[in-house]
Amino acid sequence: MIHQMLDKIHRIKLPIPFPLKTMNVYFIDDSPRTLVDAGIKTKASFEALKKGLEAIGHSLHSIERILITHGHIDHYGQAKELSRLSGAPIYLHPREYGRVRSILHSLGFLKWLLLKNGAPEPLVHEAIQFIESAQGWADPLEEAFFLNDGDSVSFRSMTWKTIHCPGHSPGLICFYWPEKKILFTGDHLLKETTPNPVLNVPDNKTPLRYPSLNDYLTSLEKIEELDLSLLFPGHGEEVHEVKGLIQKIFAHHKERMDRVLFSLSKKEKTPFEIAMDLFPGVPPFEVFLGISEAVGHLEILREKGLVRVREKEGKDTYSLET
Ligand SMILES: [Zn+2]
Ligand SMILES: [Zn+2]
Repeated sequence: MIHQMLDKIHRIKLPIPFPLKTMNVYFIDDSPRTLVDAGIKTKASFEALKKGLEAIGHSLHSIERILITHGHIDHYGQAKELSRLSGAPIYLHPREYGRVRSILHSLGFLKWLLLKNGAPEPLVHEAIQFIESAQGWADPLEEAFFLNDGDSVSFRSMTWKTIHCPGHSPGLICFYWPEKKILFTGDHLLKETTPNPVLNVPDNKTPLRYPSLNDYLTSLEKIEELDLSLLFPGHGEEVHEVKGLIQKIFAHHKERMDRVLFSLSKKEKTPFEIAMDLFPGVPPFEVFLGISEAVGHLEILREKGLVRVREKEGKDTYSLET
């Protein structure tokens, strides 16, 4: 039985130039032959996908449909090229469309956001430079079809359901195969790493301080309610202990929430200062992730009435509510 379900699903690991080192795409050998995520746009990633498909008797031309879990460059970067070669249509959630059209569309906003959250100018400069240099790792996607929460993804012998899980990214979607209790999670759930809820540019649905962590935890509760026995994540190994992993993530965020409160117990701080307490010595391109994490917790604490925010010299400054 297990074998029967797994022989349709082929995981192909592709290299990425980031600390996680690899990401997973999944080739589903059913009609239409479907690729879940596409990998970053580098020669190494392209060659690894080509080899991976050849090893299972296919080629890049075999791909008939491309599903993108979310608009981070390691997941959609080479989708356009693969679509061009194979003619496969690309599907993603509408809330990822803005960012996949241009990774620079939000650069001005990001710069403003980092400064407002207390990051020093030189670091902001380095972070922006990093994003600009990342342009070459993704072709912008103009043509894509949309998948919304609850939409079916049909194959000849099975039907998956699209599950919208905002948090790590506002339009992240997971794919659920109920008969086999399988979920393709993108970066919503990973085995070894706690996915970062990332600050995002507000679209017409998000407030200025996008409550990414709050959204993330709500999405996690949604996944907890599903009947699941196996996860295929966007990085790392498959997950069999689904309930255990979800509990671990909830516990992790609770512990981090306590650290944020502790960090504020001495004096008022900007999200950047709190991020430095949480993750001392992070490299500049990860400062954004650290700040995202800090703001995620601070916004939950603010909604609970435990902290307050005020603007001080143009920077958001948080303190414990007394
Ligand atoms: Zn991601
Ligand atoms: Zn990823």
